[in-house]
Amino acid sequence: MRVLLIGPPASGKGTQGRRLAALFEVSYLSSGELLRAEVSAGTPLGQQVAEDLARGDLVPDEVILDVLRPPLQAALRSGGYLLDGFPRTVAQARALDGWATAVGGQPEAAVWFDVADDELLRRSRSRASIEGRADDVSAVARHRIDVYNAATAPLIDYYRQAGILIHVDAAQPIDTVAATVDAALAPFDVRGH
Ligand code: AMP
Repeated sequence: MRVLLIGPPASGKGTQGRRLAALFEVSYLSSGELLRAEVSAGTPLGQQVAEDLARGDLVPDEVILDVLRPPLQAALRSGGYLLDGFPRTVAQARALDGWATAVGGQPEAAVWFDVADDELLRRSRSRASIEGRADDVSAVARHRIDVYNAATAPLIDYYRQAGILIHVDAAQPIDTVAATVDAALAPFDVRGH
């Protein structure tokens, strides 16, 4: 199974992604989690990207490509991937196409978690208090939504044109979204049981 999860911050793709990875037994890779791990470990790369994360800006394409390449290649060798938060720009999508073509790992589905901006802001405020994520407090949350609309939303057309876009109304309750996504991804289930 090779699936991309695309959606604005707080659209629920992380929650669904971890659940789907366990259900379909596929490697879950969150670009944001990989970057936050670098920041907390204080690596040179972490120090380089810390400000971008704190501001809610995207890190440069070359940086995320370098971070993601090894785990993605490992995931491809072990049967597939569920990518959360990558690609986030059309340039990243093209880079993924390049790698994937070389190793036969083209994405089969891009699930778009569609939620209106107002609902995202409401969710971000509650996540900021529950999880203590510094990039969820309101000004940064608003900025992250703007960055999504400017840089990442064009991927929706990109994958619609590629014929692999799956639209999900992610403003629905979590269980409803889960049932919708499970049904949409069932055709890509390659578990032998
Ligand atoms: P996330 O956990 O996916 O919301 O990502 C948290 C932060 O990590 C984002 O606000 C960006 O600063 C950075 N980030 C995550 N994925 C990417 C990506 N594919 N390209 C650039 N920056 C990213």
